[in-house]
Amino acid sequence: MATVEAPTRPQIRLHEGPFVNEPLTDFSKEENARQMRAAIEKVRGQLGREYDLILGGKRVRTQDKIKSINPAKPSQIVGLHQKAGKEQVEPAITAALHAFESWSRTSVEERASLLFRVGDLLRQRKFEFCAWLSFEVSKNWAEADGDVAETIDFCEYYSREALRLAKTELPVQMPGERDTLFYIPLGVGAVIPPWNFPCAIMAGMTLASIVSGNTVILKPSSDSPTIAAKFVELLEEAGIPDGVVNFCPGAGASFGDAVVSHPKTRYIAFTGSREVGLRINKVAADNAPGQIWIKRTVLEMGGKDAIVVDADADLDAAVEGVASSAFGFQGQKCSACSRAIIDERIYDKFLEKLKVRVEKITVGDPAENTNMGAVINEGSMKDILNYIEVGKKDGRLITGGARDTKAGDGFYVQPTVIADIAPKSKLEQEEIFGPVLVVIKSKNFDHGLEIANDTEFGLTGAVYTKSREKIERAKRDFHVGNLYINRKCTGATVGAHPFGGFNMSGTDSKSGGPDYLYLFTQGKSVGEKIG
Ligand code: NAD
Repeated sequence: MATVEAPTRPQIRLHEGPFVNEPLTDFSKEENARQMRAAIEKVRGQLGREYDLILGGKRVRTQDKIKSINPAKPSQIVGLHQKAGKEQVEPAITAALHAFESWSRTSVEERASLLFRVGDLLRQRKFEFCAWLSFEVSKNWAEADGDVAETIDFCEYYSREALRLAKTELPVQMPGERDTLFYIPLGVGAVIPPWNFPCAIMAGMTLASIVSGNTVILKPSSDSPTIAAKFVELLEEAGIPDGVVNFCPGAGASFGDAVVSHPKTRYIAFTGSREVGLRINKVAADNAPGQIWIKRTVLEMGGKDAIVVDADADLDAAVEGVASSAFGFQGQKCSACSRAIIDERIYDKFLEKLKVRVEKITVGDPAENTNMGAVINEGSMKDILNYIEVGKKDGRLITGGARDTKAGDGFYVQPTVIADIAPKSKLEQEEIFGPVLVVIKSKNFDHGLEIANDTEFGLTGAVYTKSREKIERAKRDFHVGNLYINRKCTGATVGAHPFGGFNMSGTDSKSGGPDYLYLFTQGKSVGEKIG
């Protein structure tokens, strides 16, 4: 009689020892630069390929396509993707529900072991992933490396966290009982990431989901589906069972919305803009026919992050911190400094130094490792340029102020600084998400904090001061999820800076921190009579 062989499962191998961050690559070392250049050439040879949807392990093609292009060379297609529509929602949910039956019962060791394998594979392909990030979203080498290193950190960190959660012990045992608490998975989750950390955020929300025993419909941003496709290939290589992650690029407004509203979707892990986050919150709150739970939402949204510089601050350090927070990855980080709030006693001196520093920034093809690449797409470039025009009227242009055409037809915008912007004005309140920094004059440190807190956001912030007393005041009064003292406000590190914002910046989910996996699980308390 013929026997049906069960699929062979990879061996469980857990990494020993405490979590350690993946080191960043030093590209000033010729060997690293050589490997990066080689990876860029290798990836260049793979541009323009077509990628399928993956539903329950099956490759699916659709009529409609998404063309992912290189923002630095808009005629260059990075990847051609299927475009999931409403008709793919049911098959995707069905595949994820089916996989949930076995994946939710798979041991935590096996699930953690999968993440460790993914991390190991990614470590081997680090330069290649960096190259994809450079082509698809215009990250320079160091920015791409930070994104990939963070992804590896999530593999290493969330796997250890899942193992820790599985060993939760209760502080009280009732006499004659064995009292335990298990963190069990939620169900099928919609994972909806943005394009700006297309590897780390996309992978982070996916990895936290699956290590907790959930199954996922992954809908990457239409600006960065290729990196997500490469990541899903890694998951498959690491032995992920069919249906645990269903890969579905598609339009947010049709496919995304329909997945969010589906009665069998148990939770939504979203990172993106305030507008879309609020929309998801509203749609998810509705009780669809057949829905038997309150959908959980993990929503991380925009920012209008400020750095407050006190009169006694180390001015050179403050200028460096502001410039790198404002213009790293073209200012397209949710944590980017978009407001520098400067004490009036040092205001002119600060602007003078800042102008010199910003004018050293090189703009051009990030594959050649310039300081700044292109912004993500044409629409975004136009929005940014519109904000700059408003800024020229509302304030004083210090440097930049236009599209950068020197570097070709890419979506390049000059690093722009606009001074004398008034609190509560448009540029002081709205997230621009591009290389535009506004500078605001404050009367003193307290006034600086007051201005810093005057938006509806509350994501990151920094202060530069030598005063212990003012540092303590900032720790108490600067209302942001991630505060930094005497350093830049970007570059949160997994384990050290759990990341998530207040107010309209989101639900403060603190990714990369010890509370994160609770958002992807539910606690089941069991009191068992013994003896
Ligand atoms: P976005 O809101 O436009 O898109 C995010 C994702 O939502 C995309 O995958 C998109 O396709 C999807 N989407 C759009 N409409 C949808 C709908 N109706 N239903 C379901 N999904 C939908 O954001 P973006 O432009 O990709 O990213 C930039 C934004 O993300 C900025 O506001 C930035 O501050 C924010 N961000 C926040 C964090 C954080 O941790 N707080 C991190 C990175 C980026």
